[in-house]
Amino acid sequence: MPLPARLQAVIEAVQPLAPIALALLDAAGCALANDVVAHADVPPFDNSAMDGYAVSADSTDEWLVVGGEVAAGDDPTVAVEPGTAVRVMTGAQLPPGTEAVVPVELVEEDGDRIRLTEPPRSGAHMRGAGESVRAGETVLDAGTVLDAASIGMLAALGHAYVSVYPQPRVVVVATGEELVEPGGERSPSAIYDANSYVLTVLARQTGAVTVRRMIASDDKQVLREAIEELLPHADLLVTTGGVSAGRYDLVKVVLAELGDVRFSRVGMRPGMPQAFGLIEADPDRFIPCFGLPGNPVSAYVSFEVFVRPVIRRLQGRRDLSRPRISATVEAPIDSVTDKVEFVRVALRRRDGDWLARPTGDQGSGILRSLVEADGLAEVPADRDYMDIGERIVVHLLRSE
Ligand code: AMP
Ligand code: MG
Repeated sequence: MPLPARLQAVIEAVQPLAPIALALLDAAGCALANDVVAHADVPPFDNSAMDGYAVSADSTDEWLVVGGEVAAGDDPTVAVEPGTAVRVMTGAQLPPGTEAVVPVELVEEDGDRIRLTEPPRSGAHMRGAGESVRAGETVLDAGTVLDAASIGMLAALGHAYVSVYPQPRVVVVATGEELVEPGGERSPSAIYDANSYVLTVLARQTGAVTVRRMIASDDKQVLREAIEELLPHADLLVTTGGVSAGRYDLVKVVLAELGDVRFSRVGMRPGMPQAFGLIEADPDRFIPCFGLPGNPVSAYVSFEVFVRPVIRRLQGRRDLSRPRISATVEAPIDSVTDKVEFVRVALRRRDGDWLARPTGDQGSGILRSLVEADGLAEVPADRDYMDIGERIVVHLLRSE
């Protein structure tokens, strides 16, 4: 199946999770479920932008009597009368009659009298109610990913809780008779499980809460029981291994038994054999499930191409994929025809352009060349070679 059609079908099968109300600080990084409309002005009252004196605009260089003081947080009890000034602090509500604030640096002080060293400018250093946000304005759109500034905006509006899409719970399961936990005892024919670490880190970096499991088995019953036990804890299940054409590739059989999960050969390399579908994790709760290939780079690239967009969709986000740039090919790239090929490349800047160079052996089991990569260059399906100097699209692996 061509990659674009596959990706579209996968994304369309997934809906955002049900929104929840979270305390502000817990909502950072989540996408807003609704537009936020200001119910009041910010700031809520006219206030001083400086420590200084509130005066009327026609004050001259005559001595003014200081009629009182308003600190931040005080309710003003005096007004600015002709011939008087009121001492105000930054953020203090302005007393009635204020037409300008004169900073303390521009004032000669003598006991309870002051004299202005220059005439006031009408409206100077006054912050009007609603100058940041007016009541009734939409301040944040649904789908906005909450960051420090937008959380601050919500706080300034007085919200203690906010309705957001929750962090998806992603269950990552590595499978294969040959697998051993890193740190464990390795028999001569065994390998350490790398994929569950790769995928779990990627899922966490995408903003998911993760559960990681390694099932050192290719036994159908063992796999089925382990996956069934994990399903109630998942919003998304990602397995690796056991979806190819081998005799013991039974994960795809187990997933197909558990739900409407189909195996397909996707027109991409690495990562061609893939399973995707929905499984009923609890009564009436269907979750997306991926059966990714076992080769570490295939699993990684499949995550980038399919799993990341699905996590983003569960999170209610609109930006589903990593940012891309256009780069110049710096060393020749061989590729397969009829498939989109993702090539691990290192990037460097030259004369305002990006140069992309393959990082080494592009075999689907070679993690090494991924470690050195800044991005995945995308060779279109109708090309089998990219020459030095040609333009190529690169998906950036180190940016959100
Ligand atoms: P499979 O898709 O199960 O046929 O596995 C393909 C290749 O990937 C085999 O060489 C496996 O040993 C290797 N592989 C499978 N799972 C993992 C894993 N969790 N970590 C590292 N390599 C793996
Ligand atoms: Mg296997």
